[in-house]
Amino acid sequence: MTHIILLGPPGAGKGTQAQMLVEDRNMIQLSTGDMLREAKDSGTEMGKIVADVMARGDLVTDETVIGLIREKLEGDKAGGFIFDGFPRTLAQADALTGLMAEQGEVLDHAIELQVDDDVLVDRIVGRAADAVAAGGTARADDNAESLKIRLMAYYKQTSPLIGYYHAKGLLKGVDGLGTMDGVKAEIAGVLDA
Ligand code: AMP
Repeated sequence: MTHIILLGPPGAGKGTQAQMLVEDRNMIQLSTGDMLREAKDSGTEMGKIVADVMARGDLVTDETVIGLIREKLEGDKAGGFIFDGFPRTLAQADALTGLMAEQGEVLDHAIELQVDDDVLVDRIVGRAADAVAAGGTARADDNAESLKIRLMAYYKQTSPLIGYYHAKGLLKGVDGLGTMDGVKAEIAGVLDA
C-alpha cells in the first residue's frame, strides 16, 4: 500500500493523474475539491457556506477540509490513498501527519507536478471551454479572475509545503509539462523505484 500527495498549482494535472492511478493501481483518490463541490451541489449546510469562497478562488477553512479527510481515512484503504488538492496549508499538512499516524499509516511520497503559470491559464481556460462544448457547465472557479486568486493562494499558502515535504525527505519533483502518459510514466518511476 502506497500513500501519496499530489502537489501542484491549479491546472497542473493532479486530478487527471489521480484518476489514472485509481484505474491502474486500485488506489483511492481523496480530492477535497471534489468533496466540496459535491457538498455544494447537494445543498448541504457546509456546501452553502463554502460556495462563495470556492467560486472566488480562496481556500475554505482548514477545519472544514480536515474534517472531510478524517472521515475518509477511517474507511477502505485499498491500494493506498492519493491526496489530490489536500493538504493546501501547513496546518493541513500537520493534521494529515497526525491523522495518518492514528491509522498506523505513513506518507510515502509528496509528488510535485511542476508546470509553468502560462500553461496553467491555457489549461484552465481550455477546461472551461471543453466543459461547455460537451454540453455541461464550466466550474464556477474556472475563469481568469478566480484563477488569479487560486494561483495566489497556491503560492502564498500551499507552496511552502514543497519545503515542508522536502525537509521530511518525501518530495519528488515531476515535470508536469509532458503528455498525460509521459507524466504518468514519471510518476510510475517514483512509485516503483
Ligand atoms: P480544486 O478542485 O482542488 O481546485 O479545489 C477547488 C476549490 O475548493 C479551491 O479553490 C478551494 O476553494 C477549495 N479547496 C479544495 N481543497 C481545499 C483544501 N485542501 N483547503 C482549502 N480549500 C480547498
